[in-house]
Amino acid sequence: MVTNRTFTMLKPDAVEKGHIGAILDKITASGFRIVAMKLTQMTTADAKEFYAIHKERPFYGELVEYMTRGPIVAAILEKNNAVEDFRTIIGATNPEEAAEGTIRKLYATSIGENAIHGSDSDENAAIEGAFHFAGREMF
Ligand code: UDP
Ligand code: MG
Repeated sequence: MVTNRTFTMLKPDAVEKGHIGAILDKITASGFRIVAMKLTQMTTADAKEFYAIHKERPFYGELVEYMTRGPIVAAILEKNNAVEDFRTIIGATNPEEAAEGTIRKLYATSIGENAIHGSDSDENAAIEGAFHFAGREMF
């Protein structure tokens, strides 16, 4: 049973713009411990699978293109109430709606190119962490 963990990706736009250091600094300053982390690049098959829940949405094709166009930083993070607290520090999906000081408010370009991912539940945190760090197995 995984508790108190979430999964994040610093997305290609954030890496391209040189924001890795600033974003990781904000994450650790907010009390998250980095449990696992890597610079990697998703294949088209990876991105399609990771975002399969959105496959009927009109933005799915663009999302897969975006997420595969360059390196990302994938990480598993630990903190009390990790999933909810991380969603708070990243801010709303659309940066125009994101609260002041959130990572998306500071670094996102648009609702599509929004700098960072955060899991939306403990269950998805475990699935997404395993996707990137444990050969697709649940842990
Ligand atoms: N996305 C998009 N257009 C939209 C909504 C979402 O391009 O109208 C992209 C965006 O990169 C977002 C990702 O698809 O982060 C997953 O969408 P979701 O609604 O799960 O948002 P999140 O959980 O990332 O805030
Ligand atoms: Mg989501």
